[in-house]
Amino acid sequence: MAITQTAISYYGLNYVEHAEKDFQEMLDHGCTTVILAITEFDMDFWFPSIPKIVDKAHELGLRVLLDPWGIGKFFGGEQVSLFLQNNIENRQVGAISGEKLPFACFNTQSFRDYFQRICLKLARETTADGFFWDEPHYAFPKSYASITGGASDEWSCRCPNCMRLFKNYYGYEMPKTMNDDVKQFRWREALFILEDTSRKIKEINPNSEITCCVHATLNSYYVTEYRGYDNWDMVASSPYFDVFSTTIIAWHLPADFFEEITRRTVEMAKKYGKKSERWIFGYYKQPTDFAQIDKVVDLYERLGVDRLAAWTYRGGFGTVLAAPDPIKLWDRIGENYKRVLDARS
Ligand SMILES: [Zn+2]
Repeated sequence: MAITQTAISYYGLNYVEHAEKDFQEMLDHGCTTVILAITEFDMDFWFPSIPKIVDKAHELGLRVLLDPWGIGKFFGGEQVSLFLQNNIENRQVGAISGEKLPFACFNTQSFRDYFQRICLKLARETTADGFFWDEPHYAFPKSYASITGGASDEWSCRCPNCMRLFKNYYGYEMPKTMNDDVKQFRWREALFILEDTSRKIKEINPNSEITCCVHATLNSYYVTEYRGYDNWDMVASSPYFDVFSTTIIAWHLPADFFEEITRRTVEMAKKYGKKSERWIFGYYKQPTDFAQIDKVVDLYERLGVDRLAAWTYRGGFGTVLAAPDPIKLWDRIGENYKRVLDARS
């Protein structure tokens, strides 16, 4: 068992010559792969630079994965959404409040087409090695604890489109209270947009690698988040995904939590013959003692994780989500990346 990929995310896809310098710095930090966070604005305005930036990364020896970052607020990410700006419908709706939410409903044909158009353009017009599905999710609930009642019973999506699909399938009106049919409906529909798009990407480029990264949640008998991708068996068993990944864990959480999530991530990936990936929190917050980074990387390696990834380049330096010591954090991640890659060779 060895870690074979060390990735870092990167935003601001504007000038090839600027990206080149940053890519060199990534290589100096032991990164094998760059995950380009592509926004709706990048696609709409900066697109001519994107294929060239991908080619430049390849020229320098980096693998390139494309992350449709925060698109429609379907995925994780701080970017603003042109889809939501340009469409007043096709939004998720709170089941109990009935309110339209600032999240695209990915079960509508409108958003499915919009998202697929972006991805297929990237698949056709760039030489990227694959795509990264970054924390796809329904707006609500975020935390739903069946033993304690949780913060709220609100959930989404109960828009007219989801209600129609649900009634067609189950033969009764979609309830306002989440039941087993609603859970199953949400899992199935949530997977459709990603599987359909992944399948079409692979038709264009059969070697395109798809990573599906879901929230690192307990999903136990007692506690689950119900964001739509919390049924890990359904996600990891999808024939259209190659890598099963789980998201960043805050540094202050107990070591046991890191261990449990990582163990279950690796087990789930192995069960379905996929590669496993774990993330490192490389922006906004940092550990009190930077040695925790070394320990977490050791844990990931010991438990058999195939791939490491960190968000984001230079610890988020220059953004509102910079770590307190962004460059120190970035450097420590880089030292660990080089360490695990050296151990491999
Ligand atoms: Zn909906």
